[in-house]
Amino acid sequence: MAGIYIHLPFCSSFCLYCDFYSEIKGRVQHRRYLDALKSEISERVDFFAGVFPDTIYMGGGTPSLLDAEEIADLADVVRNAFGIKILHEFTLEANPDDVTPQKLEGWRRAGVDRLSIGVQSFCDEHLVWMRRRHTSAQAIKAFIRAREAGFNNISLDLIFGFEGLSDEQWRDNIAQLTALSPEHVSCYQMSIEPGTELALLADSDHYHEPPQEICAAHYSILQQMLEQAGYRQYEISNFAIPGRESIHNSSYWERVPYLGLGASAHSFDGRSCRCSNIADMKSYIGAMEGNVSLKIRNDEILSEDDKFNEQIMLGLRKVAGLSLSSLENSRLAKIKPVLEHLTSTGDIISEGDIIRIPKERLFVSDGIMQQLFL
Ligand code: SF4
Repeated sequence: MAGIYIHLPFCSSFCLYCDFYSEIKGRVQHRRYLDALKSEISERVDFFAGVFPDTIYMGGGTPSLLDAEEIADLADVVRNAFGIKILHEFTLEANPDDVTPQKLEGWRRAGVDRLSIGVQSFCDEHLVWMRRRHTSAQAIKAFIRAREAGFNNISLDLIFGFEGLSDEQWRDNIAQLTALSPEHVSCYQMSIEPGTELALLADSDHYHEPPQEICAAHYSILQQMLEQAGYRQYEISNFAIPGRESIHNSSYWERVPYLGLGASAHSFDGRSCRCSNIADMKSYIGAMEGNVSLKIRNDEILSEDDKFNEQIMLGLRKVAGLSLSSLENSRLAKIKPVLEHLTSTGDIISEGDIIRIPKERLFVSDGIMQQLFL
């Protein structure tokens, strides 16, 4: 298994809470960026060293803002460069307001077989507050259109954990989502990230994060309602109809190699090197156009302790947990006493070779994992 991630950092406007690297489309020459991406692809053809990547994920930003022909062209360049014959998953992130029958048809022709649609909420009042560009009705229409166009693998995103979201509104959001029966659901808790409009509101006392007990209760409602609707949770923020778990995203938690292309994209060689591209389109394009003074890639070589901590952190994100025999012995011995303590408190369940965090404690998983870090 190996995957390719392509970052398409263009948005029509910025959402209140978002800190992903993106630029307003139109203010930058997106064609130059696409050419730069192609240059990076040809530069990185040896990344996988004999392994054929089998997933492509185009994220952003808002990849659905681009023309379907541009998506198809990029996908062709990737397929040819990496010798991809079979793709097990090709995901495109789409915003509901971009989902037209023409684009859907173009995405299908490009080989996209999975859509990840950023719904975030079915409450118009909340969508306006979040600065989303779509309404609840548009989100539903986008989903129906995608189905009509033949997409049978669709993921919908929701956000919870923000001020003003009542229990009833949250239940209604989940009920509206399950009524559509997407194959996959990703759900994230809103957080205040530096540099966002939400951070400014919080700094000026115009926004207050809800108490963690409320967020925990909403997370629990989500787990229960999705389970009742036939979804299986497989990761802290991800749920799927059995067999429809995201192959590409799973590669992040399985520590298999993935190559991130584009400004701000991250890569991992599957062993000990993580690298990140600069989150600046001008520098990225400049470097790819031949300006050798611009350094766009930053490599981080993981120490053995870093690798161990990563295995703990990524493995315990998964509901299936982590195999103890995959951990290095001397380091495992060091954390044994903490592990025994966490098992005695019920924070960790130990079943033979497997350790995992029980679903009812996944909401506080960060704190549990940190206790196991070296
Ligand atoms: S959430 Fe998506 S659409 Fe909104 S600003 Fe971030 S990348 Fe753009």
